Amino acid sequence: MKIRSPIVSVLGHVDHGKTTLLDYVRGSTVADREAGGITQHIGATEIPIDTINKICGNFIARLSIKDTIPGLFFIDTPGHAAFTSLRKRGGALADLAILIVDINEGFKPQTYEAINILKMYKTPFIVVANKIDRIFGWEVHEGASFMESFKQQAPVVQTELDLKVYDLVGKLHEEGFQSERFDRVNDFSSQISIIPICAKSGEGIVELIAMLLGLAQEYLTEQLEIHEDAPAKGTVLEVKEETGLGVTVDSIIYDGVIRDGDEIALMDTNNLVKTKIRSILRPLPLEEMRDSKKKFKKVDEVVAAAGIKITAPNLDDVVSGSPLRVLSDEEDAEAELLKELEDITVDTDDEGLFVKADTLGSLEAVVHLLKEMDIPIRSAEIGDVSKRDVIDASIAKDENIEHGVIIAFNVKVHPKAENDLSNSGVKLFAGDVIYQITEDYEAWVQERKEAQKKQWLESIIKPAKLMILPKLIFRQSKPAICGIEVEAGTVKQGYSLMNANGDYVGTIASMEDKGETLTAISRGQRVAMAINDAIAGKDFEEGDSLFVDIPEKHYKILEREFKDKLNEDEFTALDEILEIKRIKDKDWGKFGLFE
Ligand code: GDP
Repeated sequence: MKIRSPIVSVLGHVDHGKTTLLDYVRGSTVADREAGGITQHIGATEIPIDTINKICGNFIARLSIKDTIPGLFFIDTPGHAAFTSLRKRGGALADLAILIVDINEGFKPQTYEAINILKMYKTPFIVVANKIDRIFGWEVHEGASFMESFKQQAPVVQTELDLKVYDLVGKLHEEGFQSERFDRVNDFSSQISIIPICAKSGEGIVELIAMLLGLAQEYLTEQLEIHEDAPAKGTVLEVKEETGLGVTVDSIIYDGVIRDGDEIALMDTNNLVKTKIRSILRPLPLEEMRDSKKKFKKVDEVVAAAGIKITAPNLDDVVSGSPLRVLSDEEDAEAELLKELEDITVDTDDEGLFVKADTLGSLEAVVHLLKEMDIPIRSAEIGDVSKRDVIDASIAKDENIEHGVIIAFNVKVHPKAENDLSNSGVKLFAGDVIYQITEDYEAWVQERKEAQKKQWLESIIKPAKLMILPKLIFRQSKPAICGIEVEAGTVKQGYSLMNANGDYVGTIASMEDKGETLTAISRGQRVAMAINDAIAGKDFEEGDSLFVDIPEKHYKILEREFKDKLNEDEFTALDEILEIKRIKDKDWGKFGLFE
């Protein structure tokens, strides 16, 4: 058994400093490069323990960390590689994560997204509060530890920093995590450390590295044990076309050994792909790259942890996030992969919406978040939105409009599908922040519900009251025509009217004002109204109040669903109507036992 370096992934909102931090980590040891200060991998950078000791010896001594691990292995392709690197099923890739937050901006959509993914995979993480140099009055001390630099700041600046750190503590608390500034943490297993840093000047990086080392040493050594002679396990970070090499896969090997000529198994969108390694490549040291213009060197074998490029036939359809296994006679790697493939495709519902994403990692993350929101998923696949997806979603839409939805994370709509999409009425929610996409989707669902409710409310007969104006009866009957004023609510053509005793008076045939025909009029409006079935002088008199005759069913719906949507005058009219109705039927409008 051997212990490998813990694999560290950096996550955070765009522009909060992931690249700058990784550049600093790479650059801080550049002087030591030749002395073995840093090992450049494909897609990763490894800082060996000796170098770490040199940079943060003091801290390591103070934290009484014993150096049993060989170094720290940073995945240095930030962005969505992070999702891939955090996948758990089929083997965790990242052992630890750094969540980077701009201390002046605080939590942003991708910060929440990252936290959700860390929660989902239960990955231990450290929060770095970046860009402390932007705090008003901060005096930069290049390369200093945070504590050293902090001590030299003016008291107001120190206070300002702490206030900002406590904002983060509050936000993390809302997300269910206890946290503290790292130097105030007393239990690293239950509290998350927040390390203020400046990725540009390097302030605080010493503590960050020491802290990662400490956590790994204390809590992770078991999961870092590797089997040096076992067939390798890894994860594909990227599938790339390289000039002269064809399609290659960049992968991180986290266990075992992989050799030139090995048979390996990987996954495309739906199937297992088996192939034989043509060559294993590592990056050439920078200096040699400059001389020879070549980027890679061939190696015969590598042992975990390592980031390598593999060339082999049949890699064209392999997906990012795919597991990679070296096949051997003893181990049943193939069956293991097939099982994983099954898990991914089976994890869907009979009905629901359609999800497309760019990598296995991001697909899992999207599916997980949607499930947490209780949103059913009909299918979840890797790849661009195709014509077939649109057709499937359009069929689903005919059954349930809310299922005629495609969630597209970090993928494009295939040009051939665009036309169909705009004609089908299928709703597309696309973007590269999961959090934003789900928010947009929820807003749409909410909007639809409101619109439906509004439509329903429109069709309900609402309370209204009108008065027959004195001296304005123009015609006695067939239909009776008279001047009226609306006293409460809105009166519409076709409504039935009743008098104050609850007797039927007639039905509104038409309304007219200054030669204009109206279908609905509201409180205060005066019009000439034609009333079918009514005889003026018999069914009503000048000065009478008439009420809209609300069907009992409509009354109950109003009472239960829309009472808060009525105006004050409608509200009063409703009470009057209820009273009138109950003259003839004392139980009118009461709810039955099973309603
Ligand atoms: P990413 O999108 O998370 O990879 O962010 P970048 O590393 O590209 O940083 C975004 C911007 O913030 C760049 O202009 C960086 O120079 C700047 N930046 C990053 N870290 C710091 C820092 O500590 N202080 C200051 N002042 N700017 C920073």
